[in-house]
Amino acid sequence: MRLPRFEYLRPSSLHECLELLEGSGHESRVMAGGTDFLVRLKQGVISPQKVLSIRSVQELNFVSEDDKGDLQIGACTNLSDLLRHPLVLTKFPSLHHAINSVGSMHIRNMASIGGNLCLAPRCWYYNQTKQWRHAIEACYRTGGKVCHAISGSKRCHAINSSDTAPMLIALDAKVCLQKKDRKRWVSLKDYFKDDGRHHTVLEKGEMLTSIVIPRETEKDRTTFIKIQHRKGLDFAIGSIGASVKSNGKEINLTLAINSINSAPLILNKAAQIIMESGFNEAAIGKAAEVARGETGAVTNLFTSAGYKRQIVEVLLKQALSELKLTQKKGGTKH
Ligand SMILES: Cc1cc2nc3c(=O)[nH]c(=O)nc-3n(C[C@H](O)[C@H](O)[C@H](O)COP(=O)(O)OP(=O)(O)OC[C@H]3O[C@@H](n4cnc5c(N)ncnc54)[C@H](O)[C@@H]3O)c2cc1C
Ligand code: SF4
Repeated sequence: MRLPRFEYLRPSSLHECLELLEGSGHESRVMAGGTDFLVRLKQGVISPQKVLSIRSVQELNFVSEDDKGDLQIGACTNLSDLLRHPLVLTKFPSLHHAINSVGSMHIRNMASIGGNLCLAPRCWYYNQTKQWRHAIEACYRTGGKVCHAISGSKRCHAINSSDTAPMLIALDAKVCLQKKDRKRWVSLKDYFKDDGRHHTVLEKGEMLTSIVIPRETEKDRTTFIKIQHRKGLDFAIGSIGASVKSNGKEINLTLAINSINSAPLILNKAAQIIMESGFNEAAIGKAAEVARGETGAVTNLFTSAGYKRQIVEVLLKQALSELKLTQKKGGTKH
């Protein structure tokens, strides 16, 4: 597969990058590590006139800790660099685990954390070569009026497969979104949209520039679990990021599951059951049953809707059991 023709731009500062994005509108696309972007370019599912490579923008490459102990990460920071960073290694072990589960070492050596949070949703009928796609009718995402994954549906149901997304949601992370004349902070819980065509709140000319993760206290407990067909290189068929955080007065449980729908699923009802009844077997069973109902009915990629419900149940039970175990020990297990 050959790359199509495009103009390659390499801004050296964030200011230049935002100016270029604003000026070229829909004609240009941002590329970070390119591990997803270049594949889609070769498959012809995207064909921008201009490609803006942001890899050499220094302001997007950093890891630091602020006065409060919160972790700040530039959007273009490489996943392998994050894995080696002492702050991630020692203070955010579940995030470390989630990052380590993305693709293979070769992918992580190129891929960025921002690219992982902007990863385009995937679909069996879309992430294919041009010839393959030309054999079927165009769908919503390719300019048509049907969805092959869910026939009769009025929207795109491609799957969000980002592994760091559920963990960063559980860690209550925020993302900084910037365009030429505006900067805004959005909680990651509100960043994703359950729509395969427009899967984030990013606007035209806007890009993700950094991520802030509140520090974990000694009482916080977190876990990340990923289910995949083959270990080592595969996308998830389900992954969960879970956390129990305490502000001294009350406890807050967050359960976020991805690779099931177009946006990560935040299982509020299931979490509420545990917060009210505690980490006992009966409550965990009830929460898992409720979570199945919150899952929806999307058959796509390699799993049917029924199988996805089972995956959600298994992930939820496993994550809650791990959090329960660490509660007994009084520490954080990962
Ligand atoms: C074989 C293989 C296996 C993979 N396995 C996994 C896996 O297990 N888990 C997983 O999560 N992913 C997986 N991926 C997908 C991908 O490699 C990762 O999600 C990676 O983190 C993407 O980062 P990147 O920097 O390469 O993004 P790019 O490919 O450069 O970009 C991805 C998308 O994000 C946009 N983008 C990038 N940065 C920004 C920004 N700062 N602001 C706005 N938009 C931006 C791009 O325009 C593009 O649409 C896999 C890919 C391959 C090829
Ligand atoms: S989910 Fe439907 S609309 Fe979306 S890419 Fe797949 S076939 Fe097309």
